[in-house]
Amino acid sequence: LIPRLRPFTSTIFAEMTALAVRTGAVNLGQGFPDTDGPAKMLDAARDALYGGANQYPPGPGRPELRAAIAGHRERYGLHYDPDTEILVTTGATEAIAASLLALTEAGDEVLVIEPYYDSYAAAVAMAGATRRTVSLRETDGRFALDTDALRAAVTPRTRAILVNSPHNPTGTVFTRDELASVAAVCVEHDLVAITDEVYEHLVFDDAEHIPLATLPGMRERTVSISSAGKTFNCTGWKIGWVCAVPELVGAVKAAKQFLTFVSGGPLQPAVAYALESELDWVERLRTGLAAKRDRLSAGLADAGFAVWPSAGTYFVCVDVRPLGFADATELAWQLPERVGVAAVPVQVFTDHPKEWKHVLRFAFCKTDQVLDEAITRLSGLA
Ligand code: PMP
Ligand code: GLN
Repeated sequence: LIPRLRPFTSTIFAEMTALAVRTGAVNLGQGFPDTDGPAKMLDAARDALYGGANQYPPGPGRPELRAAIAGHRERYGLHYDPDTEILVTTGATEAIAASLLALTEAGDEVLVIEPYYDSYAAAVAMAGATRRTVSLRETDGRFALDTDALRAAVTPRTRAILVNSPHNPTGTVFTRDELASVAAVCVEHDLVAITDEVYEHLVFDDAEHIPLATLPGMRERTVSISSAGKTFNCTGWKIGWVCAVPELVGAVKAAKQFLTFVSGGPLQPAVAYALESELDWVERLRTGLAAKRDRLSAGLADAGFAVWPSAGTYFVCVDVRPLGFADATELAWQLPERVGVAAVPVQVFTDHPKEWKHVLRFAFCKTDQVLDEAITRLSGLA
């Protein structure tokens, strides 16, 4: 294995899930739901499978899916031409990797907000570029963007910035002000923004998802990425997409077509159907997840953790120190055997492990029964 990929031989999700399976622990580590998406979406996939949609779909994605993605983007007042400004990918993961491969190279720096989703570091490395991280800072009980640190991280070599909101793992949803600072930096330094909006629908209370592309000067320099996995409880389908101006989408397509060529033929019509007809189902998913967040957050607090509020995603983060633990990574590796629950240490998503040493992430995208079992087990920790 070449040196630059050596840090990426395994993922925390694979390792923690394996440990959870081995020990019979309740898995609140890897974020995936334990119930299916809308029944008619599953029917649509079955119909496509038996209806002859089993050969290569068109390179940019099936036309009905590109039309549905464009229609969905209109909810934010964003207009994209389905023929020239949308590309279907193998999940958001491929979209992110293809964007970095197409838009950055050796010598370029990519700004990455940390903690970061683990594939970002690997994808920047595969592109041969260098990541430069900007840490979120705890401000008034929330993990906020440190806009001074963001400005300070820009160098003459900076090419792009990766922005994930709603944010995994902290549950932060960036405010309009935070996004405006990102936009100002991008415009001032002529950067491309790559946004990861896979949790776009999963925002709670009065939090609002604001696509960075809606800010002045940003549509033409933002590669907006999302996927069906989190919106429709189908994380294994890996149907994602990119929306951007033709020049940027064309670049990402150049990389994508030689990574996978095309993606998930029979699943594309089902996702098109869901984007067009199942947003009421998604609204129920969203309110249900807000209740699950409350349920797990209360249980974690009762167990003795200090719990940060989560405004979106599948995740809630806790401080393990009130329970007398100094290191959340150590605790995460012990937790499955000790009490039968798996969680993920946040430290592994950062380049500054000391600063994030005490933070542990739990997923609440599970049935109430599973959450309650985890809560009962965790109450034995104190
Ligand atoms: N980005 C973030 C922030 C995620 O949490 C995930 C989900 N695991 C992904 C990207 C990957 O999305 P997909 O499964 O569509 O590739
Ligand atoms: N996105 C999910 C998480 O953050 C799982 C991703 C994965 O298994 N690679 O937990």
